[in-house]
Amino acid sequence: MKLRRLSAALLGAFLLHPGPRVTLAQGAQPPDQPAVTVRGQTYTPRSILARNMGTDEDQTTAFPPHKVIGNVYYVGTRTLTSFLITTPAGHILLNSTYERNVRTIAKSVTQLGFKFEDVRILVGTHAHGDHQEGDALAKELTGAQVMAMREDVPALEAIKPGGKAHPIDRTLRDGEQVTLGGTTLVAHLTPGHTRGCTTWTMKAQEGGQAFDVVFACSYRAPANVTPEIEGEFNRTFTLVRALPCDVPLGDHAAQYNLAAKHARLSAGAPNPFVDPGNCWNEAEIQEAMLRAQLQMQQKAPRP
Ligand SMILES: [Zn+2]
Repeated sequence: MKLRRLSAALLGAFLLHPGPRVTLAQGAQPPDQPAVTVRGQTYTPRSILARNMGTDEDQTTAFPPHKVIGNVYYVGTRTLTSFLITTPAGHILLNSTYERNVRTIAKSVTQLGFKFEDVRILVGTHAHGDHQEGDALAKELTGAQVMAMREDVPALEAIKPGGKAHPIDRTLRDGEQVTLGGTTLVAHLTPGHTRGCTTWTMKAQEGGQAFDVVFACSYRAPANVTPEIEGEFNRTFTLVRALPCDVPLGDHAAQYNLAAKHARLSAGAPNPFVDPGNCWNEAEIQEAMLRAQLQMQQKAPRP
């Protein structure tokens, strides 16, 4: 019983990953059960977190910056994604990641031939340090307007690297649009992982065709799933499966197999990031895990 409670506490502390330095190297590990198998791959809470975060080095080393599709570019690290959406009126940056990555992201933007100072709008997928801790520094370096889903505002305001207040210039509601230089991003409230977890969608143009791009939020359930969180996820999984999607992206690179797809990038070949058949893989994995966790919770004796 004590052991169960201790491991639940450890798991809770780990899955919330509130601080910038909580990594696998620090010892706390989510459990290796339940295990779920989706499309021939087996996952546990531990393997999912390891896949998402990688090593400290993976979290902070730039992945080769590249064009994803149309005006969407990758400027993140090996495991933490950051996307630059370019427009003639300046750029949108999606996910600043950790504060210590902001200058790495800026360098990737420069390598692609754009100016980091031209970022006008900064948005994010959700209020966890590995995705939005760098917002204050990114704003300081660019003057960008920071926009955030209303439900994530309290959690964002609690992210204060070095005591810096978290900037929020505009609060968004479910379905609201963010438009710059002819590109429109739509903010979809997809809660569960955080209260204001946001899945962003936009249309990208390439080769005379329009493609639906989905920047998915994390759909990973916390260690203890309350009925309220279960309700949020039920709504979220239904909503995300109804989104038009040609190009699935995520807030961790592994959620859309970035490395494997990037390796297939070559001139003249079809764009590997156009992958409508795998749009809902990640939702499928996380929903299977949520159901398995709920089953385990029901079986566990009450403390
Ligand atoms: Zn998170």
